[in-house]
Amino acid sequence: MVEEILPGLYRIEVPLPNSPLKALNSYLVKGQGRFLLIDTGMNREECLRPMLSALKKLDVDLNKTDFFITHLHADHSGLVGDLATDTSKVYFNKPEAAFISSQPSVEYWQGLFSFLQSHGFPEAELKKVWAGHPGFKFSSRRQVDFTTVGEGDTIEVGDYLFKGIETPGHSPGHMCLYEASKKVLVCGDHILFDITPNITHWVQLDNSLKQYLTNLEKVYSLDVNLVLPGHRNLWHNHRKRITELQEHHQDRLKEALAALEDGEKTAWQVAPYITWDIDCSSWEEFPAVQKWFAIGETIAHLDYLEADGRIQKGAKNRMVLYSLA
Ligand SMILES: [Zn+2]
Repeated sequence: MVEEILPGLYRIEVPLPNSPLKALNSYLVKGQGRFLLIDTGMNREECLRPMLSALKKLDVDLNKTDFFITHLHADHSGLVGDLATDTSKVYFNKPEAAFISSQPSVEYWQGLFSFLQSHGFPEAELKKVWAGHPGFKFSSRRQVDFTTVGEGDTIEVGDYLFKGIETPGHSPGHMCLYEASKKVLVCGDHILFDITPNITHWVQLDNSLKQYLTNLEKVYSLDVNLVLPGHRNLWHNHRKRITELQEHHQDRLKEALAALEDGEKTAWQVAPYITWDIDCSSWEEFPAVQKWFAIGETIAHLDYLEADGRIQKGAKNRMVLYSLA
């Protein structure tokens, strides 16, 4: 689906089969002789075909197209290797450009797997994650030369002058784009409206939940009329949603604390005490990949509580255990 949102700015809805996210919002901006495509969809036929047909409908020449990637997740960055040409600039934040360019190896993923095992994630479930994780299956396979951007850097295309805003939290280097004269905020997965962005533990980012909440405050002050998120519906009132997201995480923090009231637990044991927005009636029913996202989010909340001095972390038989401070 292609729709013109503002003069010269279009939303391309890229389907994400079998994902609870349903689709990715890619945004195309038309300038004089050049185009900017913001986020791309996953590296898979089911995304590539609709993307190419949308670009054709919009008369976009990929030889005259630059890209901005909000963050490294495969649904946002996966297709850039297929779409970018030798003359394209691919704007991307520094920490994630370095990470992607280093081509996360099998050892990287194995390290992550042992980390999660030490938090109680069962080996049999991890094997299922290995088969179904979008990060292994649908990332870009081609090395891309990135043009790194950071806080305050500008990208001009047609009538639009976008300014980069660094918003780590959902991912280590996540960035938004702000168009001040049009009061438009392109926010990737920093703020979503119908669903809640996943905030997980990152080896590359200390206390990701704390950083996420700080960066919600950072964009709260912006004067915004239209928010263009990475998934689902567009919205106007970012401040109302930011308040809801802050409350959401405060509630999850309370649930994590309550889970520890009757004694120490691993993150795996804490996770079922937390309310998850997923169409499953019990924790056991969650697909393995969703359990992976849930445990990452649980650890992010436990990291936050530990840094805050409300809980402490110990180890027993190579398992990480949390208890009330
Ligand atoms: Zn994401």
